[in-house]
Amino acid sequence: MSVLSAELSFRKGFGVFLALTGLCLSCSRGPDFVAVDYMVMGTSARIIVPREKRALADSAYREMLVVDSLMSIWKPESELSRLNARGGMRVDSLTLSCIRVALAAAEYTAGAFDPTVWPLVHAWGFDSDEPHLPAPESLVSAKRLVDWRGIRIIGDSVALGPGQRLDLGGVAKGFALDMASAKLREMGCNDFLVEIGGDIVCSGQKGYQPWRIGIRDPVNRGGIIGTISIRSSGVAICTSGDYERFVEIEGVRYSHIMDPGKGEPARGVVSVTVIGSGGAAMADAMATGLFVVGPKEGIPLAESYGMEAMFIYRQGDSLAVAMTKGFPEIIK
Ligand code: ADP
Ligand code: MG
Repeated sequence: MSVLSAELSFRKGFGVFLALTGLCLSCSRGPDFVAVDYMVMGTSARIIVPREKRALADSAYREMLVVDSLMSIWKPESELSRLNARGGMRVDSLTLSCIRVALAAAEYTAGAFDPTVWPLVHAWGFDSDEPHLPAPESLVSAKRLVDWRGIRIIGDSVALGPGQRLDLGGVAKGFALDMASAKLREMGCNDFLVEIGGDIVCSGQKGYQPWRIGIRDPVNRGGIIGTISIRSSGVAICTSGDYERFVEIEGVRYSHIMDPGKGEPARGVVSVTVIGSGGAAMADAMATGLFVVGPKEGIPLAESYGMEAMFIYRQGDSLAVAMTKGFPEIIK
């Protein structure tokens, strides 16, 4: 993480057992920067740029909208929905790049991240207002359809295996952040922070200050338990957590992230925060994949990919934290 010069300090006395999840912005508005808020992908987005470059924020936001309109599985008219309906077709080069990242993450995590997971999401009713335990038969047939190796890219066309669905929900936010970042740079803006739903890319610095990103305290809502300070040419910080999007079925709490191998929502991990300089799309997908894998296998996996990761996971009734070797350096 040579491009990273970051530090994170925890509130005194927090020790090894941290009760924290997720990230939130704690950037105070400097005199020379402006934060512009938007909505995209069913969540909030924020773009912080030098005040004199305020107009560029709208252009960067438009890139996010393009990604959403191409790759949303929720919009029947999106390119992804058309691909899912037809089973194969030529796609836009942006959609193709995002699919390539998704497949690379799938390969890298041995299918813990799997962009064909949708039949499982559907079997559990996570695509509806009423998630439910799936009937055993529907689970068996859903599991049969989930296999990223069924996706074929031929030239600029994508073909799905019979009955398969592509779901880019675990990677598209990161991809949109990469697109927005590229747009800002193209327009001559190198000091910025872009955020969608808690996933962040920051670049350069905020005036003479590093970018400061707070880590949310899940126990005291609205509280922050630590801050990462980052000054770099472009770093993504992506979190997957079960603290915001989860459901309770018959008294058991389930996350919205599926374990494709088991055919059920992943359990055990509360949140994974990934810090990487290889693009937000990959960091976003890896956060989702590592959530499934868990800390024991996930930490060596993140390290071999050159990413830093922090897991908060359940250990009995407590929460424990595990980090890649480089993470404490970032937070020193
Ligand atoms: P968030 O950051 O909002 O928690 P994620 O980036 O973790 O979201 O992605 C969650 C979305 O990814 C789900 O809504 C679903 O569409 C999809 N998904 C769920 N499980 C997996 C998985 N194992 N691999 C790939 N995508 C998944
Ligand atoms: Mg993700």
